[in-house]
Amino acid sequence: MSNPEETPSTTPTKEYKYFRQPGPRTPGPDDPLPHELPRFKWDASLRYRALEQNLSMPNLPYMAIYYVRHETKWQPEPFEQEVWTDADMKLVGTGQKECPYCHGDHEVKHEVKRNYFGVDTGLRILRPEPCQSLLFQRFFSRWCNPANVAADYRNVTLDNLESYAENLNGFPVGKKLKYLLKMVRDNQYNCYLLAGPAGTGKSTLMTAMYHRALGNWALESFERDVYCPAVWKITASTLAKQFREWELRDVGRDGEFGEPTLPPEVTVEKIFAAIRAGFVPCLFQKSWTRSSWTATFRRRSSPPSSMQSSRMVVRSLPV
Ligand SMILES: [Zn+2]
Repeated sequence: MSNPEETPSTTPTKEYKYFRQPGPRTPGPDDPLPHELPRFKWDASLRYRALEQNLSMPNLPYMAIYYVRHETKWQPEPFEQEVWTDADMKLVGTGQKECPYCHGDHEVKHEVKRNYFGVDTGLRILRPEPCQSLLFQRFFSRWCNPANVAADYRNVTLDNLESYAENLNGFPVGKKLKYLLKMVRDNQYNCYLLAGPAGTGKSTLMTAMYHRALGNWALESFERDVYCPAVWKITASTLAKQFREWELRDVGRDGEFGEPTLPPEVTVEKIFAAIRAGFVPCLFQKSWTRSSWTATFRRRSSPPSSMQSSRMVVRSLPV
């Protein structure tokens, strides 16, 4: 039985053409050896500057590209580490002070240039790298935003929660508080539901968890050089309002003069984008009404772990 998918032997062989990209010329015998190239600095945007006068500018780019492409081992040259005080991190991070290293503000890229040395070719290049002020900006612009964290909560972290024990008054100091703190410290990416009357420490605990999640995200996004928001803190009512406005954005709006409606701060698309970028998305949501959370969660089977005191319940929910 013949297979219709089989290619008959009479089909002419498909012709492929290979195009060579016009590129840098391969250096010939008369070209200078890498170590004879005078020192020049090169940056990633392929803009060249001859630092020494005896190399003519027209010859520089193609030679530079050739050698730069053939270099396999770029080693960072020693540089002086930037020194940051806690106060400066916060001031630069919130845009109240110019970064002393990259002079970046909110409109400019936070970049510093570092010297690299090519082991094979002996070339020295100047490569732009993200400045640490970018990390502080990502963290403090969110942490110091009163919509996220109230001013009197700004010193709360997951590591110093013991000193806020009076806020967590539902958990008497001792075994219960210890167990609660161990649970949230060890299982950062669990899904938690905090429920209880006002003044039992839900906000304190959530702020501390937000601090760690935000800090980890800011550091990871800086080190991997990937920017994609993945940690959000928003009240349920604000988010619901944003979704409502987004749905009604074209109804009764003056198309000529109306302010454009922004998409909601957290959407399914943004959460998936964070996952695709390799982050664990963290959403901190406050003030669910009693009816909504009881209706949603009471029907579920018992969660893997829960921590209950006389006044507050902390539940680790199945994800
Ligand atoms: Zn900087």
